[in-house]
Amino acid sequence: MKIILLGPPGAGKGTQAKFISEKYFIPHISTGDIFRKNISEKTPLGIEAKKYLDEGKLVPDEVTINIMKNRLGMDDCKNGFLLDGFPRTVTQAKALDLFLNGIDQQIDKVLLIDVPKGLIFDRMTGRRVCPSCGASYHIKFNPPKIEGKCDVCNSDIVQRKDDTQSTVKDRLDVYDKQTEPLIGYYKSQGVLSIVNGTGEINEVFQNVKNILKDIHR
Ligand code: ADP
Ligand code: ADP
Ligand code: ZN
Repeated sequence: MKIILLGPPGAGKGTQAKFISEKYFIPHISTGDIFRKNISEKTPLGIEAKKYLDEGKLVPDEVTINIMKNRLGMDDCKNGFLLDGFPRTVTQAKALDLFLNGIDQQIDKVLLIDVPKGLIFDRMTGRRVCPSCGASYHIKFNPPKIEGKCDVCNSDIVQRKDDTQSTVKDRLDVYDKQTEPLIGYYKSQGVLSIVNGTGEINEVFQNVKNILKDIHR
């Protein structure tokens, strides 16, 4: 099963991705997580990407596409994958299609997590993440069992630098301008499904499963 999760920042892509990846045994591939890991390890990619992430801008297509081609060529992607945060531009989507065509594969489903703008802002500014294992929480909607500590690995959870008010606004603008055109792109390919993302985390996952149950591997 080859799935793309689409939706504005803060829609709940990463949260749903974790559940989908566990239920359907496909790797969860998040470009944001890959960039953040490289930034914390101060690799050359991390040093290059940091300036874009800090400002809420997109990392250049060429850099992002190369990383994803490498990642999708790995063994664990042979039976499918779940993309979270990629593609984010039409150029990236076309490059992905070209890459998959080359290995005689195609995307099965693009899930657009649909959440009104009014909810997004609260979701993003209340988000807290674990810098060690990447787990994501929300101070109100999905708090960890012990305040301030990751349930999985007990590290101190933190606010992402780009989840503060001013950068959030810039990221939503970037989504509207650069990523939203992908909705039309995938609609015309007949692979787009819209997931109601407004309910609680479990309800949204139920909506996702209802859509995915018709897909064969
Ligand atoms: P969110 O979960 O809020 O949607 P991500 O973790 O997916 O955020 O992305 C964080 C940042 O990483 C983006 O603001 C951007 O700078 C960079 N990034 C992630 N994915 C891509 C991509 N496909 N193309 C370019 N930049 C990306
Ligand atoms: P994305 O990957 O799309 O940027 P996340 O999955 O990180 O979004 O979710 C953003 C924030 O909203 C997180 O703090 C997360 O815990 C919270 N969240 C996710 N889904 C829901 C939901 N259905 N209801 C309330 N809060 C949610
Ligand atoms: Zn953790």
